[in-house]
Amino acid sequence: MLQDSYGRRFYYLRLSVTDICNFRCNYCLPDGIGCGRSLEGENPLSVAEVDTVVRAFASLGTEKVRLTGGEPSLRRDLDSLIAAVHDCDGIRRVAITTNGYRLPSQIDGWHAAGLDQLNVSVDSLDPAQFQRITGHDRLEKALAGIDRALELGIQTKVNAVLLRQHNLAGFDQFLDWVRQMPVTLRFIELMRTGDNREFFASNHVSGTDIESRLVQDGWQQVVRARDAGPAREYYHPDYAGRVGLITPYSSDFCASCNRLRMSAQGKLHLCLFADAGFDLRREIAAGDAEALAGHIRELIGGKSAGHELRRGLTGATRNLAMLGG
Ligand code: SAM
Repeated sequence: MLQDSYGRRFYYLRLSVTDICNFRCNYCLPDGIGCGRSLEGENPLSVAEVDTVVRAFASLGTEKVRLTGGEPSLRRDLDSLIAAVHDCDGIRRVAITTNGYRLPSQIDGWHAAGLDQLNVSVDSLDPAQFQRITGHDRLEKALAGIDRALELGIQTKVNAVLLRQHNLAGFDQFLDWVRQMPVTLRFIELMRTGDNREFFASNHVSGTDIESRLVQDGWQQVVRARDAGPAREYYHPDYAGRVGLITPYSSDFCASCNRLRMSAQGKLHLCLFADAGFDLRREIAAGDAEALAGHIRELIGGKSAGHELRRGLTGATRNLAMLGG
């Protein structure tokens, strides 16, 4: 079992399959960096390479893999990537994080390939606001895709980054929505990155303030599974859905870290805000999962106790599309 020098165990791998994104979210890639570059030029990990990576991690105790990006649905071979992860011995859950751009036409294929869990980023339920934040008039498509995922029985979560100037006024609309919708809606605290410093200063909202309000309104905390992500989730008897909070600025956030990240080019990142990744592409391409697992085990000793976000240090992370948030 993979364990670091602080006794943390790693059940969860976030695997980026491209760092290219077609959205221009104002807090992440406002200038669309990555838009217009070709996926071929990027040379992301192939299906065979993803298979090697996932076998290596599974041999070290990883149980859940999330495919992310950039925007993973831009990969034409995404069904095969999902199937490669699904078919790997030891992996119990395959998840994906997407902006939902073509979700209604793609979700059936992902389901057939073995997808267990879907996360869709929906930063506003108001179509005009959604367009202002993301640069795309696609809210309806994302919502239709979520409806279809629920029909297929896929566990579905919705991510919304809390933005003081852009969607905080829509907070009650989000809560009303989960009265009937059996999804988990997670509010993510905006994180400061190398690229969004000014935006962060005017838009960051503390998730713990929101959490206090939920508790006052009768929401109760759900016990966290060992392969769960960083969200603290709440349920309420009057609501079909749940609400989660991801608060990377809270002081104990890193103590329960159970996840590692790999970039689309095969760099292992021990933390989202690490100074650098370890380039494992040559070993991955060689296809020897056992050797790769041995190297990952050596590297894990270097994982630090926590990120330095509260001191304003963001490591090498210019934006979260580089590594899948
Ligand atoms: N393209 C996919 C999507 O839109 O969900 C996956 C990649 S995206 C980088 C993953 C998640 O990171 C999204 O939910 C996004 O809202 C979130 N994210 C991006 N930048 C962020 C930031 N600076 N602070 C907090 N969350 C951020």
